[in-house]
Amino acid sequence: MSAEFDLIDRFFSRRSRRALLGVGDDCALWQAPAGMACAVSTDMLVEGRHFEAGVDAESLGHKALAVNLSDLAAIGADPAYALLALALPSIEESWLQSFAHGLFTLADQHGVELIGGDTTRGPLCLCITVIGHVPADRALRRDGARPGDDVWVSGTLGDAALALSGTGLSGEAARFCRDRLDRPQPRMALGQRLRELAHSAIDISDGLAADLAHVARASGVAIDIAAESLPKSAALASCADRPRALECQAAGGDDYELAFTASVSNREAIGALGRELSLPLTRIGTVREGHEVRILDLHGEALAFARAGFDHFES
Ligand code: ADP
Ligand code: MG
Repeated sequence: MSAEFDLIDRFFSRRSRRALLGVGDDCALWQAPAGMACAVSTDMLVEGRHFEAGVDAESLGHKALAVNLSDLAAIGADPAYALLALALPSIEESWLQSFAHGLFTLADQHGVELIGGDTTRGPLCLCITVIGHVPADRALRRDGARPGDDVWVSGTLGDAALALSGTGLSGEAARFCRDRLDRPQPRMALGQRLRELAHSAIDISDGLAADLAHVARASGVAIDIAAESLPKSAALASCADRPRALECQAAGGDDYELAFTASVSNREAIGALGRELSLPLTRIGTVREGHEVRILDLHGEALAFARAGFDHFES
C-alpha cells in the first residue's frame, strides 16, 4: 500500500454510521433528512498565516474543525459531515496521531462524521469542509436583521486577540486567553435554538465590528453597539491596558462566538436560553435604519475604528 493510502487508512478512515458511503470511494454519499436544506462551508488554516509553526497538533486538529463548525452554528444548521484536505511536508506519525485525536474528539462531541478528503505533500495546510442540515426557511442568514431588533452576542469577546497581542497577562489569565485562541468551542446548540428566536446571525471570526458590518450591509440596516456592554472575561478584565482590551473586544477576531439580532419580544426567551445552555448571552446594541455600524462610548460618541482597530487608540 502506498504511504498516502496507508496514512488515510490509519488516521482518517473511520467507519461512518450515518453516511451512505464514507472514506474510500470516489465520492461520499449521504441523504439529507426530509425537508432539510444542506448547509456547506469550507475554511482553510495555513501555517504561518493562521497559526505559527510548531503549534501543538492536537489543538490544530480541534481548531481546524471548530472554525468550520462555527460557520454551521452561525447559520443554525445541525452538523453532520466533514471532509479534510491536508497538505503535509512529511509524514510524522505522532503529529498525525495528535492531530487526528484533536479533530475526532471534537467531531464526536458534535456527532460529525469524516466522510472524505484529500492528502498531498506540501507546505502544512489544513482545509476542512463541513456539511450540515437546516430547514431552508429557518436558516440564520446575514440579511435578516430588522430595524428595532436587539443585537446579542454569546460568550466573551476579545480573549483570543488578547492572547495574540502579546499584552502582558498574569499566568492564569494568559492560559485562559491562549486556550480561547487555540481551542474555540463552536456554539452549535445556540445556533440550532436561535432558528426559532433570531432574525439573523454571524460568527465572529474577523472581529465584532467587521462581522456586524457584514450583517448591516446584507440587511440594509445600521447597527449601534454600546462599548460598555461588550461582555468580558475575568482574564480580559484583568488587563491593565484598557484601550487595548476594548480594541480586542470590538475588533479583535478569532472569537468564534455568535452575534445575532432578534425581536425585542424575544428578550426573555433568549435570557432563558442562555441560562439553559450555561452560556452568557449579552444584549450589546440595537439595529436601526441606515447603514453604518457604530461602537458608542458612554457619552454616545462613536469610536472611530479602522480595520486594524480603533483610530482612537493610535499615537
Ligand atoms: P482520488 O484519487 O479520487 O482523489 P484519493 O486517493 O485522494 O482519491 O482518496 C481516496 C479516498 O480517501 C477518498 O474517499 C477520499 O475522500 C479519502 N481521503 C483522502 N484523504 C483523506 C483525508 N485526509 N481524510 C479523510 N479522507 C480522505
Ligand atoms: Mg484525491
